[in-house]
Amino acid sequence: MYDYIAISTLNDFIFCPYSIYLHNVYMGGEEELVHAVPQTRGKAVHGTIDNKTYSSMKDEISGLSVFCNELGIAGKIDIYKGKEKLLIERKYQLKAIYQGQIYQLWAQYFCMIEMGYEVDELAFYAIANNKKFPVTIPDSECKKELVNFIEEFKAFDPETNIILNMNKCTHCIYCNLCDKTEVTNVYT
Ligand code: SF4
Repeated sequence: MYDYIAISTLNDFIFCPYSIYLHNVYMGGEEELVHAVPQTRGKAVHGTIDNKTYSSMKDEISGLSVFCNELGIAGKIDIYKGKEKLLIERKYQLKAIYQGQIYQLWAQYFCMIEMGYEVDELAFYAIANNKKFPVTIPDSECKKELVNFIEEFKAFDPETNIILNMNKCTHCIYCNLCDKTEVTNVYT
């Protein structure tokens, strides 16, 4: 069977590759024990999307499962507005947009294109302040960059020594489960 990489893990991998290992170990456990505040809020934001209750407008699709055979990735989009050919990823708030989040949106874009949808615009949308942040459609160089990143993801060995960054660890949702550090995160 073909193994797809979950689009939702791309940003985690940039944050810390070891968090992917922890995610896989604990994702089947009690959710409330694993999820820290940011992730719980993220789940609440996407709850209506996952339940496909966000929009009843005919030209909007939400929570669509997507995949791309060429890149070996799969996931769910947030919202696609058919009339505008606009793909949106909602966040509760966006103080900055990280490369991993852009990779996630690019990945969703390549899935949609392979599945036959037309996408002319990409954007993040911050719910807290009702702001839209446009993202440039990825060109062939961006696609190469994403492919290389996915290869790096696939090749990661959890036994590899992790260079600890305490600022990241204390803001990591897996911190309290992580055997690489003794610190606790700021969410407890
Ligand atoms: S606590 Fe630190 S080392 Fe452990 S997964 Fe999180 S960021 Fe990585």
